[in-house]
Amino acid sequence: MEIYLDANATTPVLPQAKAAAIQAMVEDYGNPSSVHSTGLKARALIDGVRARAQRLLDTGEGSLLFTSGATEGIQTAVLSALSALRGNLGAEYLLYGATEHKAVPEALKHWNAVLGLGLQILPIPVDRHGRHDLDFVRQHAPRAGLVCTMAANNETGVISDLAGIEAALGDSACYWLVDGVQALGKLALKLRSSRIDYAPFSGHKLYAPKGIGLLYVRAGAPFTPLMAGGGQEGALRSGTENMSGIAALGAVLAALEDGQSLRDSATLQGFRQRLAEALCEAFPGLVFNAPLDLSLPTTLNFAVPGLSSRLLQDLFDAADVRVSGGSACSAAKAAPSFVLQAMGLPDWQAAGAVRLSIGPAVDEAFITEACARIRACGESLRRHCLSPANNLPTLGEGITRFMHEGACCYLLADSASRRCVLIDPRPEQVDRLVQALHCQDYPLLAILSSSGEAEHGEARALLMEALAPHLRPAGEIDALGWPLAQATLALGKWELGRKTCAQGQVLLLSKASSSGTGSGAAHLVFSGLQTPAELQALALPLAPDCLLAPARDDEQQVVLGLNDAPDTPQLLPGAQLQSFIQQHPEALLVDVREPFEQFLSQTPELAGAQMQAVALSRLMNALPEWLNEPGRPLLFFCRSGNRSRQAAQALTRLGHPNAWTLNGGLALMPSFSASAPAADPALYV
Ligand code: PLP
Repeated sequence: MEIYLDANATTPVLPQAKAAAIQAMVEDYGNPSSVHSTGLKARALIDGVRARAQRLLDTGEGSLLFTSGATEGIQTAVLSALSALRGNLGAEYLLYGATEHKAVPEALKHWNAVLGLGLQILPIPVDRHGRHDLDFVRQHAPRAGLVCTMAANNETGVISDLAGIEAALGDSACYWLVDGVQALGKLALKLRSSRIDYAPFSGHKLYAPKGIGLLYVRAGAPFTPLMAGGGQEGALRSGTENMSGIAALGAVLAALEDGQSLRDSATLQGFRQRLAEALCEAFPGLVFNAPLDLSLPTTLNFAVPGLSSRLLQDLFDAADVRVSGGSACSAAKAAPSFVLQAMGLPDWQAAGAVRLSIGPAVDEAFITEACARIRACGESLRRHCLSPANNLPTLGEGITRFMHEGACCYLLADSASRRCVLIDPRPEQVDRLVQALHCQDYPLLAILSSSGEAEHGEARALLMEALAPHLRPAGEIDALGWPLAQATLALGKWELGRKTCAQGQVLLLSKASSSGTGSGAAHLVFSGLQTPAELQALALPLAPDCLLAPARDDEQQVVLGLNDAPDTPQLLPGAQLQSFIQQHPEALLVDVREPFEQFLSQTPELAGAQMQAVALSRLMNALPEWLNEPGRPLLFFCRSGNRSRQAAQALTRLGHPNAWTLNGGLALMPSFSASAPAADPALYV
């Protein structure tokens, strides 16, 4: 069962709202502008929903229009206010809260340019708690044309001090827009008794479908229609009304009014408290990014030291818990949240933020399950040496890759000899590596750099300081970290040799020879060289099937070979998975998600399928065996299809003729959702 904790992004449609929408589409499908009985029924429906909304928002004499959503409401409000400002010589500024949803500053920019007003658009700073700087508002309001402040923030849930802002506006003639999207159903808004001129709302944030919203306009506030046409909505918003959306919104508003089907604020606060406690238990050191007592009782925004927003999202998703990153993530780098930056939070908090939000329809059982899943996430981190505290010991074996913004660091570990070597660490990875090395508890033989980059040296110094004495490498080293007294480094079944070159050193991993002199041909090399051709030019002792582990992997190639083939893998649509397995009973299905995800999520139970769990970060360990069996189809899968594509591409490039990726990943396969944690997969491949 999915646990959806992303209600500030959107919500499912309430059953009664769905029923009302279907009724409006199928039975009462009239056009409210028609004068016949079917049309009159539709008109009555609209009037009833509007009256209900007017009661709930206490709109008094103001008008309430149906729109397609808040973005349209914001455009209409901004267009209306800015049209009225033309020729107003007293207005210099357009002000908006620094943490406002993008729709607001973008609408200000757009209409300011389109109408040729040339007003200065200024963000209102917020304090550490996300509250507006009222002195700034007081100071600028006299020369402001329009002031935009949200009622509650979508990322943090921070509730604005609307009474304080109203007082700070004083007797300025500026117009005031309050984005009420996140407040609807969670805060009591009494629009009649405030000086708010415009307030947009959105249905899909409160259990109505996408595509329906409301815009409140104070009586007497200027208005310019965004859409002209058939004169619907009293000619304020033309276009045939979205009757199914209006009917559904009406059902949600009825639920709000009846006080039965949706939880009240005190109950929601109790729920949030339980979620907050589960989070603190699961993630030691967790910090909340906004004060809970100033936030909506439905939102929690937090960060965990040492854990990226991306990792936390993958973790939650594996447990079938949907949360959202407080920041926009690109593949390589998490862009910090502008909301948290505006609040002056440290970079790690702004870049590592995760938002968890519930809607007022959740119940006790849902919260109990959500808390259990959150605790399971914490347990998975502990077992895989990723928790900020209380990690269990882990067995290190083979090659593990750690990525940082395209740069690759490798840990080579041998469980039999209990030795390890680190290649190309970067300072940003030190905490994570120290944690992994302590959990594994094997002494490091060396901390090597393939290129001699300054960052590798910095990381080496930091590691030497942070590691327990028995884990640090001993003896004298050269500038690349190589121990001066050693020709090769013995790692149980392997030997690591090296060849220095103009670019640094090429590290050659070969099978240990019985004499221990390390004379065998290398099967894997680590190097900062860009291409296999550069490597071959050095005339090294390379086995014909030698693999190259790159120092950077910006193109997500994972690994290179000496004679790479074109790398277009075969895409398998999810719908064809069953028939693929029937046709290829010998195929191997490989789960390339990380072990901490595999632990939380049952692998698809496919009768007859042969499965292996090999995280993408440990792919190199399994390559030789797979490449030895070119006739055996390999089907890689992961959550979204991105990591499995990289794996299948690598295999194809290395010459495997039968490598597939499950297109779109498990996310598009509804039957394969997670439930109870699965048994530990093969961690040491
Ligand atoms: N304002 C806030 C605070 C929001 O959270 C959102 C949606 O994310 C919007 C405006 C835009 O709403 P809509 O999706 O209805 O256009």
